[in-house]
Formats: sequence, structure tokens, C-alpha cells
Amino acid sequence: MLIAEVIVDVPALGTDKVFDYTVPEKWLPIIEPGMRVAVPFGPRLIQGFVMNIKTESTFEKLREIKELLDLTPVFNKELLELGEWVADETLSFKISAYHAMLPAAMKSKYEKHIRRINMDPHPVLDRLFENQTELPWQEAEQKGILHTLRDEVKAGNAEVIYYLKDRAKKKTIKRYTTHLNQDKLKDYQNGLRANATAQKKLLLFLMKHPNESFTMQHLTELSGTSHTAIQAFIKKGILQVSQDEVYRNPFAHKEFERTLPLSLTQEQTKAITPILSKIEANEYKTFLLFGVTGSGKTEVYLQSIQRVVEKGKEAIVLVPEISLTPQMVDRFKGRFGEDVAVLHSGLSIGEKYDEWRKVQRREAKVVVGARSAIFAPLENIGIIIIDEEHETSYKQEEQPRYHARDVAIQRAKHHQCPVVLGSATPSLETFARAQKGVYHLLTLSKRMNEKALPSVSIVDMREEMRSGNRSMFSTELFDKLKDRIEKREQSILFLNRRGHSSFLLCRDCGYVMQCPHCDISLTYHRFSNELKCHYCGFSTGVPKTCPECASQHIRYFGTGTQKVEEELHKVLPEARIIRMDVDTTSRKGAHEKLLDQFKLGKADILLGTQMIAKGLDFPNITLVGVLSADTMLNLPDFRSAEKTFQLLTQVSGRAGRHELMGEVVIQTYTPEHYSVELAGRQDYDHFYQQEMILRKAGSYPPFYYLTLVTVSHEDLMKVISACEKITKFIQANLSDQAVILGPASSPIPRINDRYRYQCLIKYKHEPKLKSTLKKLLEHYQKQYTKEGLTISIDVNPYNMM
Ligand code: ADP
Ligand code: ZN
Ligand code: ZN
Repeated sequence: MLIAEVIVDVPALGTDKVFDYTVPEKWLPIIEPGMRVAVPFGPRLIQGFVMNIKTESTFEKLREIKELLDLTPVFNKELLELGEWVADETLSFKISAYHAMLPAAMKSKYEKHIRRINMDPHPVLDRLFENQTELPWQEAEQKGILHTLRDEVKAGNAEVIYYLKDRAKKKTIKRYTTHLNQDKLKDYQNGLRANATAQKKLLLFLMKHPNESFTMQHLTELSGTSHTAIQAFIKKGILQVSQDEVYRNPFAHKEFERTLPLSLTQEQTKAITPILSKIEANEYKTFLLFGVTGSGKTEVYLQSIQRVVEKGKEAIVLVPEISLTPQMVDRFKGRFGEDVAVLHSGLSIGEKYDEWRKVQRREAKVVVGARSAIFAPLENIGIIIIDEEHETSYKQEEQPRYHARDVAIQRAKHHQCPVVLGSATPSLETFARAQKGVYHLLTLSKRMNEKALPSVSIVDMREEMRSGNRSMFSTELFDKLKDRIEKREQSILFLNRRGHSSFLLCRDCGYVMQCPHCDISLTYHRFSNELKCHYCGFSTGVPKTCPECASQHIRYFGTGTQKVEEELHKVLPEARIIRMDVDTTSRKGAHEKLLDQFKLGKADILLGTQMIAKGLDFPNITLVGVLSADTMLNLPDFRSAEKTFQLLTQVSGRAGRHELMGEVVIQTYTPEHYSVELAGRQDYDHFYQQEMILRKAGSYPPFYYLTLVTVSHEDLMKVISACEKITKFIQANLSDQAVILGPASSPIPRINDRYRYQCLIKYKHEPKLKSTLKKLLEHYQKQYTKEGLTISIDVNPYNMM
């Protein structure tokens, strides 16, 4: 008897371990670790992952696996172990880790079919399948032939396959094949009537193409026969019909212009040489490719991948979700064509699933995708590239709270291959590691076109106010916008905010409308004329009078993209504007359409949020305006200066990438802040030095590691007392070197009616930390889940709120 160890889909501490199930005899030859199964758990049937197969169990009375959901494992040994590693590193449940590693479609319901494998003439099979190669399970059940079919499955003449229901239906196409041998076909030929010319033609064709399958269209065209002849052959059992899967190809409508490797510059050659030598030697090493936008990093990626592919190996390229633009994808498809699979959230669940399976079937050599593509089921990885490595979207903000960079390094060590982190503004952690020689630093100091970086002017908006300009556009920015429109050149206006984030303020008493469930102000959405909470989803109408003082002088403040657009229309009525924000890009493909329009010159100004900061490379853009540089600086986050510097540098890089000279105007209320000033000069080195001094003084990364423990409950007293106990427990178990801050109220003290307290641990080397936190979860969680208390642990947090 075989026993399978299964991780079940119940994300809880008590079930975060394997459960033993017996394997029914029919699955004995098939079952393998890494397959999904359906198992009974209590009264329910749930999904699980087979971790291991063994012959004995210490438990008695085991239940049976109900169904096998895969015929080949979805995880190989490496990925099974990787899942355990991720769960351990991030203190998550194993089941959460495994789910994060699979496309969403794999969690949905499935449909069973029985497929004929043995195509030789066979009286029983012919009768059961009636010239089809597949039967839906239900149909077989209704016909009462399930029992007979099962015998055929056992005999190896048929197999059971699973199709996902509704959410991600595979697209199929009918194909026609003959599985008869030449002698049989000759027999048929001799038996045909003399005037059956169409059928004769078809037979001759099939005799020349045994076992090849054709679509109806191809078969009629190539053999020069008719539909009727083909149908007759199906009836006679000469042709068999099969449903073949067609991948939905989201890029099908596009022609890719194939590109050839460019001959590398001296700097690029110097940068790529150590990478190539690690590829040759099959050795792990992490590189930091540090180079401004336009310095030729992508070409270095492409040529490194090319070497990997030539060696018969595979590559993963991670790109932040928002810069995973069609332009970026085109560059990889242009070089590697059909070998590229793309995984990102812009695809439908079904499309994503198709791309994933293309990878699993070894049909893709290069996987380009956002964060979760790091788990792509490649077996022979030769390089992992993370572009814009400083992007915080590489950290997942829910269980499992993993960072793609850490997973990349883990996988690269397994596969013994290089990791290349690319950025113009590396994260402080990464640059510090490169300085220490932990990572190998490679630098591209020049822009490809030898163009100077765009000239940047920083405008002090307080001065503008003083000189009587109350508009959101400084005189300088306004003049330059006008100038570009006259010259028929294009501009980008960047708003460092999401949506229409303005708040409602009473001008008499200063009251700001707050969310009743969270300690945060409500955001005014002009489109729906509503006030919304971005943390809990609460929404309400706009009051006519102030809830505090009943004054009618209540109005919204702040600047959203919609408001900027209206203002622009007022002051520059001749400007043609394309606005890109969550509202205008929520529909599938909208993002791409808007960009195409802008590229075709259908607008003078592209106005938008974060999503326009990256990846755009249009020759006609000569002006970039940043409306408010400092909105992030006031956030209670030790990375706010770093994020501001990165964003401003990135945005500035959008201008003048081609022949035309570029200019950048940054509007700010804090022009003296080093992150604004140094971004204006695109001076990473000084920014790094300055920021490192502050990080050291504050005991922040990269000098210290951080772990954030957040406790929440509806009852404030419970939260405080739990957080106190937790903090004491941690303190008692760590060394004196660790800095423990807390218990303290979280920066957002209440979300969704739950109070939030936190304990921040700063440390250099605490071997006991992980076991302490695990003990803490075990000890407290059991006790507190009953009372509704939640404890969340974020190792290396990026979201400090
Ligand atoms: P990055 O990724 O650093 O922004 P890219 O690789 O996109 O830089 O290069 C910027 C531009 O320079 C692109 O248009 C690219 O085609 C071009 N380029 C890159 N390398 C070379 C080269 N060796 N010779 C000529 N043009 C190059
Ligand atoms: Zn008021
Ligand atoms: Zn709220």
C-alpha cells in the first residue's frame, strides 16, 4: 500500500503540516510528489499537494485520496523545496506559499474527460469512443459506460484528463488524423467505387501523411477534397477526431520585428564579460548592473540570455508590473520570438494559465513576467534578471510576504547560474552589498546616444504662491508646455498620486472628512462624486454641510489627475491631452491603446500617475513635468527619501531619449530636500552617501535588518495588552544587540474598525529570531485566533504603514 503525504488547502497553523492519505490502487502507477489531489478533510473535499510518497504511516485508519487533479506534477522537487523555503523564510503557511507559486486558474474547478490513447482498431474502444478521441466524464456516466471505460484506463488504452471549468477554459481546435496502417488504407482504397473521386484523393493524401493531424481547413485545402468526403471517412472510422489545445495568444495580433544583437560598446562588453563567464562556468553569482536609463542595460540582458539559450538553458526576466508594457515585451519577443512566455496581471486568468503551461511543457525558453514569474516551472535555469531591482512591487504584501530578489538568489544557487539586478537607482541594500563585494558591481556610466542627461529645473512652489500664482502650474512649466505645443513636440505630466486623491475640508473649522472605520482621511472621487476609503473600501456621499460645525463652506482639496486635466483645458484649451490613471486604464488593453495613440502623435500631453513613470521611450517627448515632487516625503516611512529620489530620477529619464534635447521641470514645496535636489542632478552617488549616513544614524537597513510585528483587534485594550506581551516575549529571547521598538501604535492606527499596534525589531545577527517568532505564533495565535486577534509578521517589511 502506498501512502501520500499531503499539504491541505486550509491556511491555518494547526494544518500547516502534512496529512497522510492512502493512494487508491488505480493511481498507484501515476501518483508522484508535486501533484495536486482532492482529499476528504472533515466533511469537505479539498485540494492538496502531494509532498511525498511512502509505504508506512504511524496513523491508523487513513482516508483515501479522492481524486488526482494532475497527470504530471505541477511542482518538481526543486519547486516543492522552494515552497517550503519560502514558507519558512516568511513565516507563512506552506499552502499559502504553494498557491503563490501557481497561476490563479489552478485553484479553480475542473472538468474531467476520458481520452483514448490506443488508436489501433479495437472493437471495445471503437464502440465506446465512436470515432472521437475524448469523452466528457458526465456523458460517459449517463451512457453507463464508465465502468467499462475504467477497465480501459487500467489497461492503458485511455486516460483521464482534467480541464479547468469556466474560469480558464482551454481553447481547443478539432484535428483529423488517420491511425490506420498502409495495408488497411489500401484495403479501403480497393473497396471504393470508381466514381468516388473525392474520397480517392483523400485516401491518397492520407497514405502520404500517416499519423499526421490536420485541421478541417488544412485537410480540405491540402488534399483538395470536400467536407463530405472527410465526414464519410470519420463515419467509416478511417479518420479520428481529436480536440487539440490552442493556446490563447494575447500577442497574436502583433507582428514582431525580429531584432539582431547589436555590437556592444566597450562599456557594455566590460559589463557582460563577467556575466557570460559565470554562464559558461555554470556558477552562481549576483551582479548589480548599475546604469542610467538608456545606457544599454536591456541589450546586455538580451545578449546574456542569448548565450543561455544557445547553451540549451532557460531564462527568467522580472520586470515591475507597471513597466511590463507592450514595448518592453516587444523587445524580448523581437529577439527570441515564440520562445518567450509572458506572465503578468494584464492577462486574463486563462491567458496566464496558458502561458504558464507553455513554460511547463518546455515550449518557452524565456519567461518575462512580474513578481510571481520567479516561480516559473523551468527546470534548467541559466540566468535570472531583475530589471528595476529597486521597485518595491517585488515584495509581496500578503502571505507569503516574499521578496522576488531573495527567491531569485535561492533558485540561482540551486541552478548554479548568475542573477543580474539592473537599476539606475539601486536600492540602498543592493548598492551597499555591491560596495562590500557581496554582489559584483557592473557599471554603465554613459547614455547610449551620448546625449547629456536632460536639464532639470526645480521650481519652488512656495515662491510661486508668494508671487501670486495660485495655479497648479508654475510659470516656467506653463511656458514650456505652451512652447512644446507650438513646436508640435510632446510632453509628459506626472502626478505623484493615485486616482483623484483629494480630501474634503471645511474651510471654517478645518475639519477633514475621516473614514469612520479607519484613522485616515477619505478620498474624494469626482467621477462617482463619492468619498471613499482606500484602506477598507468604505464609501459615502458628499455631505452638504460640515458634520462638525454645519458650515456650508466645505470643499475638496488636493490634486487628482482629473482635476489637472480640467485645469489644463482651462489654461491651454488648444492642448490635446491623454489621461492615464486607474480610471482610464482599468479596461483590458486600454493602457496599450492610450500609449499607441500618444506614440502616433494624437496628443500633446500625456498626463498620469506612477504608471507613466517607466518604460516609455518615445522620440518626440522633450518635456517632462512633475507637478508635486514631495507628496511621498511626508510619509512615516524610512524609505520615503529613497522612493522620492528613485521616482524623480526615473521620470526625468523619460525626456530626450532620442535626437531631440529633453527638459525636466520638477515642482516642489521642499526644493532643499536632498532627495529632490540630487534627483535633479541625477546624482546617485551623493544620494547614496547622504542617505547611508541617515540610515546608520537611525539603525535602519542596510545597517540593520527589520522585522515588523503588527497586532490588530477591534478592542483597543486587547491590542495594547497583547502587543505588550509579545514585545516582552521577543525582548526576552533576543540578544542585547537587537533594538526593539514598541509596543507602539501603527502609523495608520485603525483599519476596518480594527486597532493596530506594532513592534519593530531591528537587528544585525539574531540566530534565534525565527524560532522565537515561530514560538510566538504558536503560543499566541492559538489563544488569540479564538478571540479574533491577528498577528502578522513581516520580515524585511517594505510597507511600514
Ligand atoms: P536601458 O535598458 O539601460 O534603458 P537600452 O538597452 O534600452 O537601455 O538602450 C537604450 C537604447 O540604445 C535602445 O534604443 C537600444 O536599442 C540602444 N542600444 C543599446 N545598446 C546598443 C549598442 N550596443 N549599439 C547601438 N545601440 C544600442
Ligand atoms: Zn466645519
Ligand atoms: Zn476605511
